[in-house]
Amino acid sequence: MNEKIKYQPPSASAAPRFSGIKTFMRLPYVKTTEDIDFAVIGAPFDTGASYKSGARFGPTAIREASTLMRNYSMNLDVNIFDYLSGVDFGDVNVIPGYIHETYREIEAGLLPFLRAGVTPIVLGGDHSITLGELRAAAKAYGPVALVHFDSHLDTWDNYWGMKYTHGTPFRRACEEGLIDTAHSIQIGIRGSQYGPEDVQGSIDLGFEVLTANELHRIGVAEAVKRIQKRVGAAKVFLTFDIDFVDPSMAPGTGTIEVGGFSGYESMTLVQGLRDVNIIAMDLVEVLPAIDQSGKTAYMAANIIHEVISILALQKRDGKR
Ligand code: MN
Ligand code: MN
Repeated sequence: MNEKIKYQPPSASAAPRFSGIKTFMRLPYVKTTEDIDFAVIGAPFDTGASYKSGARFGPTAIREASTLMRNYSMNLDVNIFDYLSGVDFGDVNVIPGYIHETYREIEAGLLPFLRAGVTPIVLGGDHSITLGELRAAAKAYGPVALVHFDSHLDTWDNYWGMKYTHGTPFRRACEEGLIDTAHSIQIGIRGSQYGPEDVQGSIDLGFEVLTANELHRIGVAEAVKRIQKRVGAAKVFLTFDIDFVDPSMAPGTGTIEVGGFSGYESMTLVQGLRDVNIIAMDLVEVLPAIDQSGKTAYMAANIIHEVISILALQKRDGKR
């Protein structure tokens, strides 16, 4: 352990990984924005779900699964806690059934971290939560670029006449001027649609859309180049809907789509983002009630681990 790092997990050789309270990666549970580089924050809200609900238990499941993980990323060749200090901050005060009130809590909860230059890592919750996070990000930084992994566009106008759901956050975010769409990209889009206007709707908003078909065709290495080219040096909000991963490997989510990406492909894609300026991330739509083996939650934890590892690399190299 690096003694200069204030907040880090206890050594796994001193305390078994299955012991202790289940915080993310066994990080200390501390309510602070000081002396940290990142904070893991739960947003256990699932009122925005259009199909199966239950993602309110996502943060708990991801935290529990994450305790198996070790500090060193073999793929990125970095030990996270050689360079980063991090805490599990606990959850923001969501209000089930009340999306606007919850948005206010999420925005207010994240803003102090963003203003302090700390990277929030938010555990959802359904994808509606990202609108609240983007409001905070835009307040701190102005419009941010979105790197969006998902089988769905989430730029629909409404569900049942309702404008605030997990299928609509990115259209609302565009209308509110929170996203720099010229540097934003949606990756992994697939499944049955309502019509050709769905993808066209995202393109009309200014997004680049990399469909699953195209990603399967060009491969991960080329996709990483496309993402990097699109975002350039922009400040990036990374949002990862676990249904990007194929349901064979991530069945525990409310709106599955077949023809997705393996755990390996998903991890490799994320590892490729090492030159992307990530100012915040979330991982959404883990639904533990239909994740009997826990593999969806573990997939989610590993995706987050790779993003934190990238933050560590960038810190090591003086890039953040
Ligand atoms: Mn989504
Ligand atoms: Mn989705």
